[in-house]
Amino acid sequence: MPIDPTQSYDDQNIFAKILRGEIPSRTVFENEHALAFHDIAPQAPYHVLVIPKGAYVSWDDFSARAEDAEIAGFVRAVGEVARAAGLVEPGYRLLANVGHDGHQEVPHLHVHIFAGRALGPMLA
Ligand code: C5P
Repeated sequence: MPIDPTQSYDDQNIFAKILRGEIPSRTVFENEHALAFHDIAPQAPYHVLVIPKGAYVSWDDFSARAEDAEIAGFVRAVGEVARAAGLVEPGYRLLANVGHDGHQEVPHLHVHIFAGRALGPMLA
């Protein structure tokens, strides 16, 4: 079920539990700003989620409330994950779902990285 991106942060959401180490994940990257791990139900040959360490419900929440250093650190982390995986050539796709029509299901900001095949004009 899509979430309401204006809700207050629920620290029992699944990605908060992953950040606290209460639930395992296949981690590919971690620093002070971000954690990246393989999606449990991949929709492309390479499908990794990058999440900020801070408590942000959505891209909307993050872009409105996060400090500039957190935003810069998170954006750089997404790029670093993609570069480290060798994705720059032939390319990859970033996606952040927000709210009902964006079909965001987990109420902690996550950026999807899709790669590993020609993805076409859009992922439906
Ligand atoms: O952007 P959206 O909220 O729809 O995507 C949530 C993503 O989180 C899904 O791709 C789902 O497979 C993934 N997920 C995960 N591990 C979990 C729960 C969800 O990788 N334990």
